[in-house]
Amino acid sequence: MKGIRKITPYIPGKQPNFADMIKINTNENAFPPSPKVKEALAHFSTNQLKLYSSLTNESLTTALAEKFQLKPKNFLIGNGSDEVLAFCFLAFFNSDFPVLFPDITYGFYKVWGELFHIPFEEIPLDADFQIDFSDYNRKNGGIILTNPNAPTGDYHTLSEMKDFLKKHSDEIVVVDEAYIDFGGESLAPLVNEFDNLIVVQTFSKAAALAGLRVGYAVGNAELISILNAIKSSFNPYSVDILSEKLATAAVKDEEYYKKINAEICQTREYFTEELAKLGFQTVPSKANFILTTHPERSMKKLFEELTNQHIFVRYFDKPQRLASFLRITIGTREEMEVVLNAIKKLS
Ligand SMILES: *Cc1c(COP(=O)(O)O)cnc(C)c1O
Repeated sequence: MKGIRKITPYIPGKQPNFADMIKINTNENAFPPSPKVKEALAHFSTNQLKLYSSLTNESLTTALAEKFQLKPKNFLIGNGSDEVLAFCFLAFFNSDFPVLFPDITYGFYKVWGELFHIPFEEIPLDADFQIDFSDYNRKNGGIILTNPNAPTGDYHTLSEMKDFLKKHSDEIVVVDEAYIDFGGESLAPLVNEFDNLIVVQTFSKAAALAGLRVGYAVGNAELISILNAIKSSFNPYSVDILSEKLATAAVKDEEYYKKINAEICQTREYFTEELAKLGFQTVPSKANFILTTHPERSMKKLFEELTNQHIFVRYFDKPQRLASFLRITIGTREEMEVVLNAIKKLS
């Protein structure tokens, strides 16, 4: 049949469901959401569901504005940051020149480029999986970077990112900070200083609310108003009432999240050191996952053997350079001890 689209979709990590499993394949948080979220849910009246949800998401944008010392008009809320990032592609990457992003990064960027017919160019990471910023000094229709990067965990400091933004002051730079709260420093407070900057964050990872589907963009009011126009052209009520309420409760419990995420960072350092004792080589990470390899062991085989024991990690057979690595989400200390024992027994 003529005129029908052929689409190569994004392939997310699997969502297996076994009582005894250790699920460390999609970077969900090791801990439950804040008790304040539970409390907000207990106080939620179903009568509220009779009405459409908020168009402006004022309760959540107000809470976020307070957290980042910005204004509610600096935020756009969406149904997960995947939706927000897709809106960013539609809003800001509107050029005949290619959008630039690393060849090894969040796999969705390429899918949106193709889906929306936006030209893009994948810039190879160097041999150590690092971004070389000088590679981005070429004609482009915008840039999108994940910081810390996924699936490598590699992180660029605030001052490196500021230099980059200054060098690209005529181009929109979208920074996907899905993992910034695992040891990084967010650019979000600087959106009024850099009018080319859009920061995207999510409640799925650090806030332990992947199932809720809430994410947001932070930017100057002018850029955010363009994102709002895109959202209104699509699905103006994309954030439901309950999700907004629970996400707002999460924003107001920074203390809890600081505590659990500091623990995940500690477990990450412990797990990386223990792996090193077994001969694994791990990319230094500032995320809640690590990318690791072993000079003598097949990671594909290890992946399959761990899967048989209901320990679910992530293996990418593409691109080729990743085929000798495993990406492992950092679970609780107890879970990672079980994983280490399993890895030791399998060697
Ligand atoms: C998980 C992830 C997202 C998607 O988050 P949602 O808010 O759950 O849609 C976006 N970007 C990166 C880099 C991620 O790892």
